[in-house]
Amino acid sequence: MAISVPQASLGPLIVLSGPSGVGKSTVVERLLTHSPWPLRRAVTATTRPPRPGEIPGQSYHFWSRDQFEQAIRENRLLEWAYVFDTDYYGTPRDEVEPYRCDGQGVILVIDVQGAARIRQLIPDSLHIFLMPPDIQALEQRLRQRGDLPEDKLQRRLQTARQELAAAPQFDVIVINDSLDHAVQQIQQAIAEHLRVRGTPSSH
Ligand code: ADP
Ligand code: 5GP
Repeated sequence: MAISVPQASLGPLIVLSGPSGVGKSTVVERLLTHSPWPLRRAVTATTRPPRPGEIPGQSYHFWSRDQFEQAIRENRLLEWAYVFDTDYYGTPRDEVEPYRCDGQGVILVIDVQGAARIRQLIPDSLHIFLMPPDIQALEQRLRQRGDLPEDKLQRRLQTARQELAAAPQFDVIVINDSLDHAVQQIQQAIAEHLRVRGTPSSH
């Protein structure tokens, strides 16, 4: 039997989305280091191979297609999407639900399709879109990261143009020009969300 838990007694759910290379991981790392609230980044799952420096279980859960499709069948994913027409990406429920039940905040760094799904499932989640100052800066950041062959980089830029069009669907749009300023704006948005929604400890 499903147990119904009042939404506001759960820890907050924050969604951070934006095109690949805009700086989501960089921003979240900085945010979590300075977070005044108990907040954890959910480790999501993907079928793409690890990039240099990525650590399985920390950067992502790197699953085979069979493992991913089994997780879908067993309803172990809160949301999932097929991204860049090449790979599955998805959020395991056990990366989110136990922590929220414990009153902790969880941040999801996911694409715009996943964000739309989470909006339907969890209407009181806060949705933040991270924008590049312009498309040239995005391309430069993807190149500077230096971990993608040219064809994959072009595919990400093509997807980015569609993703940027989805920005108005988000609660807050933050331009990642100055990193410090972007982190500060996200902190303010979360603080305001917690004030309006109430934190679990205030119930
Ligand atoms: P994402 O997680 O969105 O794919 P990353 O966090 O990996 O993006 O960042 C992509 C690249 O952009 C990295 O090399 C990172 O150091 C750089 N970067 C992130 N934020 C900024 C910023 N505000 N100004 C300049 N470069 C940035
Ligand atoms: P990357 O391959 O650059 O790590 O990620 C590619 C895209 O997939 C990014 O937009 C990233 O936010 C998104 N992504 C990562 N994990 C998930 C997930 O669990 N679900 C969805 N929908 N997108 C994800």
